[in-house]
Amino acid sequence: MKTGWIGDVLSGDLDHQSVELKGWVHRSRGSNKMRFVVLRDSTGTIQCVVKRDVVGDEMFEDVKSALIESSLIFRGNVLPTDREHGHEIQVESVEIVGPVNPETPYPITQSVMDVDNLSENAFLLDNRHLYLRTERMTQMLKIRSSVFGAIHQYFRNHDFIEYQAPNFVAGAVEGGSTLFEVPYFPTEENPDRKAYLTQSWQLYAEAAMPALERLYTIAPSFRAEKSRTTRHLSEFWHAEMEIAWAGNNDVMEHGEAVVRKIAQTVLDEREKELSSLGRDLELITRYADNPYPRIRYDEAVETLQKMGVEIEWGQDLDYSKEKILTQDFEVPHFLTHYPKVAKPFYHRVDPDDEKYVLCHDLLAPEGYGEIIGGGERTWSEDEILKRIDEEGTPREPYQFYIDVRTYGGVPHGGFGLGVDRVCAWLAGADHIREVIPFPRDSRRVYP
Ligand code: ATP
Ligand code: MG
Repeated sequence: MKTGWIGDVLSGDLDHQSVELKGWVHRSRGSNKMRFVVLRDSTGTIQCVVKRDVVGDEMFEDVKSALIESSLIFRGNVLPTDREHGHEIQVESVEIVGPVNPETPYPITQSVMDVDNLSENAFLLDNRHLYLRTERMTQMLKIRSSVFGAIHQYFRNHDFIEYQAPNFVAGAVEGGSTLFEVPYFPTEENPDRKAYLTQSWQLYAEAAMPALERLYTIAPSFRAEKSRTTRHLSEFWHAEMEIAWAGNNDVMEHGEAVVRKIAQTVLDEREKELSSLGRDLELITRYADNPYPRIRYDEAVETLQKMGVEIEWGQDLDYSKEKILTQDFEVPHFLTHYPKVAKPFYHRVDPDDEKYVLCHDLLAPEGYGEIIGGGERTWSEDEILKRIDEEGTPREPYQFYIDVRTYGGVPHGGFGLGVDRVCAWLAGADHIREVIPFPRDSRRVYP
């Protein structure tokens, strides 16, 4: 007898063979003589037919009392049928492993799942640890795994070195308003010593750029996002890269290629999950195949103004504006050359026009908006000191960063890609929460 996955049984490979299936009770119904148990494992669900006269009274009573989400092992024969799953198991013996107590039945019932907005439902958020078992979350998490795999594959296939930076840091990357402060080992001189949770791997990656030249990571970043949106988490997964001897265009080429690789990988590996989530595969094929246009910030502002959106030159595009802009995009678009006033000091000023910086955001279509932020770094010592002083940022926490320029600075750049945002976009989720097992935001750190 073979221990099998339900998925293998459903594929027809095990027809007329005897198998052992390990799983959880998804549904159960029947009479005093015969039970129909739909069993679930990580690969699918299948109907298992249990007859009293085959398994005997004791095992039959065990099955009858096995409530939803009880774990058990069935042994039996695989029969092709013309019913729902195409196959069923004629059970010969059963072993209950983790019975559910009838006094505390599984709380996520069908009526709970029939609510309108699953991602906003407080009961499901409180019971996130159990909600993970639903078909919807399982599909999201499988797509997520393929997205992570694709990113690793892309960078490793292109000779990037995976590199880790600290999560406790001394200074901001993205501005102070979203910094998480942590008390950090008080000293006599500094009884209030603080550290911050990193907002990005970038500054520490730039320090290793002269050593490794092409580096990447996938790691969590932390941002105390106060406004509640459908695309901000306070802890999100950030895929970042940094590359030496490169400018804004080189970095954009990698950004485009990695996103296309992700789209192709989810098509190759997760077609079934995407279809079952109602995703249009043709859209995703387009994201994998078609080139991503590049437009300048100024053009985007003009387009928005023509559409009647109130926006002034110099403002960063917030989500409401990105949403309007990207609604009719057929593929992701790069927005380049933002005004210097809208971006932090590490963005390199455009030598052709000092009002702008050599940067880019990649905006996903269908209203999803920004998935990548990147660009060329301010790489000479003179320029970085000028930019830091102009901004009024203290030099001290960034001394190590300045040193990278003092000792053999070279042109370089990089980007950060919001992995959860890419997952939400490709899976067609209506909230970023839907694609991460335990979402963290301003209101929730439990479970
Ligand atoms: P936004 O304007 O949407 O807050 P940002 O400009 O702050 O984004 P960057 O600092 O450029 O973002 O970070 C790089 C990428 O990380 C973004 O393009 C986005 O995909 C992702 N990202 C940033 N903040 C968050 C967050 N709070 N939750 C999830 N993903 C995020
Ligand atoms: Mg932000």
